[in-house]
Amino acid sequence: MPGPAVGADPGPAARGLVRTAVAPVHAPRSVLAAGGSGRPRPVLVAGVDVGGTKTSAALVGPDGAVGPVVTVPTPVSGGPAAVLAAVAGAVRALGGEPAAVGVGSAGVIDPVRGAVVSATEAMPGWAGTELRSGLEQLLGVPVAVDNDVHAHALGEAWTGAARGARCVLLVAVGTGVGGSLLIEGRVHHGARRVAGHLGHLAVPEATGLPCTCGGTGHVEAVAAGPALHAAYRRAGGSPDVADLRAVAALAADGDALASAVLATGARALGRAVGGLANVLDPDLVLIGGGVSHCGPPWWEPLRAAFAAELLPPLAELPLTPCALGTTAALVGAAGLAWHGLR
Ligand SMILES: [Zn+2]
Repeated sequence: MPGPAVGADPGPAARGLVRTAVAPVHAPRSVLAAGGSGRPRPVLVAGVDVGGTKTSAALVGPDGAVGPVVTVPTPVSGGPAAVLAAVAGAVRALGGEPAAVGVGSAGVIDPVRGAVVSATEAMPGWAGTELRSGLEQLLGVPVAVDNDVHAHALGEAWTGAARGARCVLLVAVGTGVGGSLLIEGRVHHGARRVAGHLGHLAVPEATGLPCTCGGTGHVEAVAAGPALHAAYRRAGGSPDVADLRAVAALAADGDALASAVLATGARALGRAVGGLANVLDPDLVLIGGGVSHCGPPWWEPLRAAFAAELLPPLAELPLTPCALGTTAALVGAAGLAWHGLR
């Protein structure tokens, strides 16, 4: 899953700091707010990104334009009720009376039931939460929900780096390795809503290494941010190098060990994603998450390993950085809310 940014500054857009004003828009007749004057007033929805540490929300127009972002801590220790209250509070803080709310949340989400199927220890008790109905009770407007990485892919396909593409594979490399597959513009959830967990592909570079899922040998165990930092330490790197951001800074300065560690993780990921591309034949592959800000010492071996894996008809398949930064998931979630209104 996307984690904290490391390495080179991705720029204001990728940091989610862009304060794009949402221009008033005339909504379709079906979503016009009722008003005594009969004059249409701008209709907006709210997009929300619920993560294990923080929750972000913004008003989003029907063209995907994003208003100022409100970010609050996610009160996971208070349990699901506290998290739902925090989400509702963030939406209310936006003002603007959104006509609907879309939520991208950590965890495996069933968008049809509107509930959390399962979640990691990062969000205790989150599994089983009736996300949609709980928020509809608190906010009094329709709510649409999906997983945050799926929402990220939808956001990029709406207004970001995959704009207009129909078949998109998103790879999110941060504290874990996650992903999402869009087919004909829609999320492929799979039979159990688990589709997209590409961090748990077996790769030879990870043989014997424990994975967060309880298994061993999965690409997340060599390619995720914490795995890269751990590999640097295992290889004899200085204990003063506190995190992956510091490893990436060393690699950018030409440090051989830091560069080799980043390259090993990137190559493993690149081969795995290249193999997936052969299976799926997407329009493009998007790469996002904090690790994707590690710069050329990570991107170059990733691209080389990816390209080497591709079948000849896929030789020109783009491997593209995500464009929307930290707003991607809330934009995609807002798109789900708009879809529900139309
Ligand atoms: Zn695993």
